[in-house]
Amino acid sequence: MAKTADIYFKVDPWKIIEEGFDPAYSRVSESVFSLANETTGVRGYFDEGGSVDSLRGAYVNGVFDIERLQRSYRGIVDHTHFMIPAAEWLKTEITADGEKLDLGQIRFHDFRRELDMRAGTLNRSFVWETGSGQRLRITFLRFLDMVHRERAYQQITIESLDFAGEISFTSGLSFDSVHEGYRKCFWQKPRCGQEQDMIMLQAETAFSGQEVFAGACLSLPGEAATEAQESSVCLKSRIRLEKGESVTADKRAVILYSGSKGNELWAQGRQALAETGQVSTEEALLAQKAYWEAYWKTSDIRIEASGADTEEDVAAEQQGIRFCSFQLAQTYNGGSMRHNIGAKGMTGEAYNGHAFWDTEACCLPFYLFTNPEAAKDLLLFRYNTLPRAMERAGMLDCKGACYPIATLNGEEACSLWQHASLQLQPGTAVAYGIWHYVHLTGDEDFLWEYGAEMLLQIARFLYSRAARGGQTGKYGFYGVMGPDEFHMMVNNNAYTNYMGKRTLLYAAETLDRMRQACPEKMDALKKKTNLAEGEAEAWRTMAEEMYIPRDKTGLIEQHDGFFNLPHTEIDDVPVSEFPLYEHWSYDRIYRTDMIKQPDVLMMLYLYNSSFSEETKRINYEFYEPRTIHESSLSPAIHSILAAELGRMDEAVRFFGYATRLDLDNYNRNTREGLHVTSIAMAWANIVYGFAGLRSDGDVLHFAPRMPERWKRLEFSVLYRGRVILIRMEKDGSAFRIAEGEPLNVRIYDGEYRLDTGELTVSMAE
Ligand code: BGC
Repeated sequence: MAKTADIYFKVDPWKIIEEGFDPAYSRVSESVFSLANETTGVRGYFDEGGSVDSLRGAYVNGVFDIERLQRSYRGIVDHTHFMIPAAEWLKTEITADGEKLDLGQIRFHDFRRELDMRAGTLNRSFVWETGSGQRLRITFLRFLDMVHRERAYQQITIESLDFAGEISFTSGLSFDSVHEGYRKCFWQKPRCGQEQDMIMLQAETAFSGQEVFAGACLSLPGEAATEAQESSVCLKSRIRLEKGESVTADKRAVILYSGSKGNELWAQGRQALAETGQVSTEEALLAQKAYWEAYWKTSDIRIEASGADTEEDVAAEQQGIRFCSFQLAQTYNGGSMRHNIGAKGMTGEAYNGHAFWDTEACCLPFYLFTNPEAAKDLLLFRYNTLPRAMERAGMLDCKGACYPIATLNGEEACSLWQHASLQLQPGTAVAYGIWHYVHLTGDEDFLWEYGAEMLLQIARFLYSRAARGGQTGKYGFYGVMGPDEFHMMVNNNAYTNYMGKRTLLYAAETLDRMRQACPEKMDALKKKTNLAEGEAEAWRTMAEEMYIPRDKTGLIEQHDGFFNLPHTEIDDVPVSEFPLYEHWSYDRIYRTDMIKQPDVLMMLYLYNSSFSEETKRINYEFYEPRTIHESSLSPAIHSILAAELGRMDEAVRFFGYATRLDLDNYNRNTREGLHVTSIAMAWANIVYGFAGLRSDGDVLHFAPRMPERWKRLEFSVLYRGRVILIRMEKDGSAFRIAEGEPLNVRIYDGEYRLDTGELTVSMAE
């Protein structure tokens, strides 16, 4: 593996700490210190702005704007949409001694920024030495309310250490943030208002016509006066501060996107703001802590080191896994069916806020085992956007539904046609997600109400997209791009063919079962979709005759001709050339056998129980040395398979990369935002990797394997109304049902019945 850690933050079990500010790391820190509550998200930028390198990104989930593209060929998208920076609710300006607070310009020391994952808060403090040598300690606190998700809080304390003089303080709201890529502000028609200490602002996006309300209850030190400009409204106060005194400015904000517009939204926003004003920041902070305490009680993963020599490494892993879990739960927790999980959440503008196939392929297991209702909501997002996927299939001259590779609202938004038109993995991932959800929850009603219709339309699409090969005489998909985005327009990509095969079979089998289980619903579905006689049978035949290129040893060729590609020695690629997309020409990366991310290995991970250990070994040994991990989804999948194959050193190495991907900036692009969907894989890395959980068989299967440097690993999973506690130690693993009925499971090769008593099974050699 060619990638290395770039260590900057301090290790702590529950906090991410930056001591001293390195301006070169400013954007990386902003991404890492991002906060979100699913409804809104904000990067960890400085409230007071200034001249430091920064991406001032505060986002509202589901709020985007649109760009018309020049229409070139049929099937290539002619418009795209992208998340835009929205209400700037942290807007602050402070001057002391006539000097403006700007960490790019002033003298300061004792800088410390801290993300507290137990409290869900971001804190920052430093000592400011003004031009005349007087000192002030400035402390900032912010958090986004996890319960009342339209609420956000900011508190700023200015403490004089030996300062005596005038301070001016401005705090407000604005809709003037510029989208970095487009270099443009997309907000228009601002309307502002003020009532006592409440300031309000509402604006509309330029093209999508979405409206957002922002308001704040402000309590500033001293007498405050209003300052309103076209797209901002602020209160400004001046006070005299004497030595040893301190003052606090408190802002309780509301950011509301409800789908309403005009006066209706204004009234809703005003009302929400008045209600927010009834609760103090201190009370809201207590509620915030209680929320996170409850979250960690059920979702924490605890790791202990086996000895003093491994303590440091394990402490970094512990911090890493908590950071991943924290960021994922902040980004999505089932708050609204309108939301999905952006590949970068709301932590940056790269990837435009879009959700990818990552949601079902990588994030869903985390929700299935910690918050199954949220998992269902994610699938309902796909159901609600089925009409758009059907339109897209039509644009591609196919039938059924083609789910988008990148989207915020269900429409295909990827303007790179190779990705938008050639990747079939979003649809097969949705089908896999439906199967996984129903398999684990037993929620067949979901299948009959929503799942079957999606499966039918996905199968229809695949059927119309596949063709028989001229020489093989078998079915396959031609002109596709599999998960490995370094090879495009290939034929018979094994992953695509295999996932297509499983999807077609599952869709046909679901319709058969539906016919038996609920014939009236089946009739209604038939009518709604014009399902023809024999259609499902044809899918089955196609699935049975699907070409999966595989040699005698079980080695699967990634796609036709892959074995003949020239070789790249990936360890020879210098770290300074990452990310490759910034350093290599676009076409250069397509010319060799270097692969971006697991492709064959991805299907061995998803349908793990369907492949022998030998097949996994042979393919792992062949593909791992060819993988450059330019996709952040990659290391955890390798770690999981490495653990299964007993290659523990590799499993641990990939795990370190997966859990600290952003904390240690492995891909050298954390500045663009966090890899939110791939950090979901860090959870899977523990649960599927080291605890060896497999959830694609008839019962849950565990096969624990403990890294040498760990003494203990503890976590719990939710499964069909049960809480299962798992504790792994050097000699053995203990399983117990903390809540719910007994359960049959498989551990290694043995069958066991778990109940409230602890069952211990020795660790496999
Ligand atoms: C990966 C895709 C992934 C996307 C978003 C790309 O780099 O190649 O598989 O869907 O990132 O995470």
